[in-house]
Amino acid sequence: MTVAYLSIGSNIGDRLDHLVEAVRALDVRDDVRVLAVSSVYETAPVGYTDQADFLNIAVGVETTLDAYELLAACQEVEQALGRVRTVRWGPRTVDLDILLYDNDNVVAENLIVPHMRMHERAFVLIPLLEIAPMVVHPKTGKLYAKEIAAQDRGVMLWKKVNGVEQFLQTAE
Ligand code: ATP
Ligand code: CA
Ligand code: CA
Repeated sequence: MTVAYLSIGSNIGDRLDHLVEAVRALDVRDDVRVLAVSSVYETAPVGYTDQADFLNIAVGVETTLDAYELLAACQEVEQALGRVRTVRWGPRTVDLDILLYDNDNVVAENLIVPHMRMHERAFVLIPLLEIAPMVVHPKTGKLYAKEIAAQDRGVMLWKKVNGVEQFLQTAE
């Protein structure tokens, strides 16, 4: 069993429902168990800014999947929830990224862990630090909490979440 952290975002349609459905879709799998879900945070888009605001959460999971299989599982959830790929960094029903996988460093063509841009994204770090305040970069040992201290935030608490069960019962 390995502990991994994911970032999930949505900025189309019923954004909260997409997040809840994505967490449910992970949790129903025999090879993934959701251990923790952060509160829901709202952020204006970065990169391609002509799009709606995002809701983001961080999720801690325990899994028997290796990192590549976990990426495939994330992509299955994206497909199942009807993600259509258009512009890079553009609007999406749901986006699931692997932030951390145990203490591994993965550098492959289709997968880089820790996620390459997580340390510069307050909308990723603020939810992550809520559920895992002591996480460190596997190579440098640096606390992600130190990265966030220097950042312009602009990330607003949108809905407080108190545990996985409560989150999964969020009504559609
Ligand atoms: P960003 O990576 O900046 O958050 P994005 O999430 O919009 O951008 P996508 O179009 O969802 O980018 O993914 C592009 C590719 O990134 C995927 O096909 C996947 O193979 C690759 N990738 C590399 N590392 C990761 C990771 N840690 N988690 C998820 N996808 C990753
Ligand atoms: Ca992403
Ligand atoms: Ca992605």
